[in-house]
Amino acid sequence: MKNPMPQPAKARLDQTLRRLQIIAPLILLATATVYALWSEFSLSPQPANWARGAVALGLFGVFGAALSWFALRRLRHEIATASQSDHARVSEHILAAITADSADAIILLDKHDLIQSWNQGAEMLFGYRAAEIIGQPFATLVPPDLSDESERLNKMVYAQGMARGWITRRVTRDGRQITVDLTRTLLRDEQGAIIGSSAILRDITEREQNAQQTRELNRQLETQVAQRTRELAASNQELRRRQRELENANAELQELDTLKSEFVSLVSHELRAPLANVSGSLELLLANDNQLTAHQRELLTLANNQAARLARLVRGILNISRIEAGQTLLQLQAFDLAPLLERICSQWQFCDPDHTYRADVASNLPSVWADRDRIEEVLTNLLENAFKYSDPATEIRVRAETRAAEMLITVSDRGRGIQTEDLQRIFDKFYRTERGDARQTYGHGLGLYISIKLVEAMGGRLWAESEQNQGTTFYFTLPLAGHVGITPGHASAH
Ligand code: ADP
Repeated sequence: MKNPMPQPAKARLDQTLRRLQIIAPLILLATATVYALWSEFSLSPQPANWARGAVALGLFGVFGAALSWFALRRLRHEIATASQSDHARVSEHILAAITADSADAIILLDKHDLIQSWNQGAEMLFGYRAAEIIGQPFATLVPPDLSDESERLNKMVYAQGMARGWITRRVTRDGRQITVDLTRTLLRDEQGAIIGSSAILRDITEREQNAQQTRELNRQLETQVAQRTRELAASNQELRRRQRELENANAELQELDTLKSEFVSLVSHELRAPLANVSGSLELLLANDNQLTAHQRELLTLANNQAARLARLVRGILNISRIEAGQTLLQLQAFDLAPLLERICSQWQFCDPDHTYRADVASNLPSVWADRDRIEEVLTNLLENAFKYSDPATEIRVRAETRAAEMLITVSDRGRGIQTEDLQRIFDKFYRTERGDARQTYGHGLGLYISIKLVEAMGGRLWAESEQNQGTTFYFTLPLAGHVGITPGHASAH
């Protein structure tokens, strides 16, 4: 195709011609006027002939000017018309190129729905070459099960002039079914008579498959969620049932615990009085020195020691059942700790001359806020352990010093020490590091449990540090009297 003149050049040419259309007649008119005047006055020796001058002027000036004006107008019109038809041809060409190369199938049908044109996109989509399909009915592409639907679509196109975005299936040359997005448009000539229709088909098989897969996945997901929800509801129900069972079992356990505490308390009380009698009688017999043989004395001393141990165990169990029932009443008061520590150390030194007991207490210690008897009980437990778990001839030391708003009391020995993994557990009820046949020292694992409960009830803390074969130090704190904002009174240990 010949290259048409570009639009801006055409506009410039038209503007020049428009200017010329005005200027050229004016110049012609002016030239004819000047020539007529000049020829009448200068060239001719005869007097001026006005009629001849007017004819010349009219002929060349007016008629010539008008002629040039019309000629230029005609020229402009011709150029404009030629430009328009150029433009139309270009548009048509571009449209044809787009249609031919489009990836969508663009098919032209006559009014009997016979295929008239078949672009490259249609070839690729359906596999038919233009030569073999042109002239065939459009229904060739419709799968047998969709012929009714195709009929309906046709009726709709002829009734409404267009059907857009129709998702349907069509069949290819090799019998494959593809999903297409179909748009049909009715075509009319200039007088409005129907001359056929166009069909544009876009292959959306992959898109539909993806959508189908997504729908399927969604469905599966929903099924799974529903399944899980059902399972969760079931396990929730099961959990609630178990919880109820646990609550019932707990209530039963609590009842049993109360029964046990009552029983332990009852038995301990019942044991305490006879034990006191046994001890008293044994001590009386032992005091009666002269009438006993050495063997009898030995047996009585042994029995007395066992009775004392039993009494201690009973006391311990009673203590625990009181603590656990919250019945341990504490007589809290401000008192000076130093005399108590010194007295206890002296007593232990008297009973156990093998160890060296040392009370290391500053002279001007502030008063503590605690129950004096309970502190004595705690110290007795700690010193008894130091005595039991360290070799004779080693030192057992008791110290007291103030730390911030607290009194820090330490009991240290140079004994065998406690392994790190046991350090936390020694405060548990009945916990002993010596178990089974390995037992070398007598004990029930109650002393530290009772001690920590009592110290905590008095607002302090109890802990231990130890190094294997180097010794153990127990620390406990007590509030200073000046730092507790309460008046003397009672508290209870739990
Ligand atoms: P027990 O009557 O057995 O001494 P305790 O509650 O007083 O009960 O102590 C618990 C365990 O902690 C003891 O069995 C012992 O193994 C360990 N223990 C306590 N004090 C010491 C210590 N000073 N040295 C080494 N081990 C200790």
